Amino acid sequence: MKEGKLIVLSAPSGSGKTTLVRYLLHKEELNLGFSISAASRDPRGAEIHGKDYYFLSLREFKDKIKAEEFLEWEEVYRDNFYGTLKSEVQRLWNQGKHVIFDIDVVGGLDIKKIYPDRTLAIFIKPPSIEELKIRLKKRKTESEDKINMRVAKASTEMATAPQFDAIVTNDNLENAKEEVYQLVKKFLLR
Ligand code: 5GP
Repeated sequence: MKEGKLIVLSAPSGSGKTTLVRYLLHKEELNLGFSISAASRDPRGAEIHGKDYYFLSLREFKDKIKAEEFLEWEEVYRDNFYGTLKSEVQRLWNQGKHVIFDIDVVGGLDIKKIYPDRTLAIFIKPPSIEELKIRLKKRKTESEDKINMRVAKASTEMATAPQFDAIVTNDNLENAKEEVYQLVKKFLLR
């Protein structure tokens, strides 16, 4: 079995981690492939099945849990399950790529536990909870209720930051991009 390395970017929702993941994916020399997670929520905006997520029904998701098809999975919000399929990591490794994950803090730390030496786990920190709320509102993709739910969760998530290999504060996007790029490059060249 061919095995590459794993790069985890975890953060509270709205911290800008997706932008940072996209930035790293464009750096061809890093040879990264995006781990498409499975999710039991509905697609949002322009999201595409098989590109942003594998959108599954709640039933399909639970069947795959039973069949032990997940490397890690979690009920991130009530009835909203997210997880990494073992087959997804293998698919990217088979292509000779390192895998990059855009997942929540618990899932990120789970991956680190499963592959402690081959994983670089980076925590992306929003400048503040207040700023996070502003960003989520600007995104205009979620209802007020859902925004409040995500903000409430963010405080607990922030407390897990010290368990990561590195913490990058995203108060200036250009600096954050450069910082994650250097961290990932150094780790992959080790
Ligand atoms: P969203 O609904 O905003 O796309 O994602 C909600 C949360 O689920 C985010 O924090 C996201 O990182 C997390 N998430 C996405 N994919 C996975 C996954 O495969 N596993 C886990 N544990 N969390 C995930």
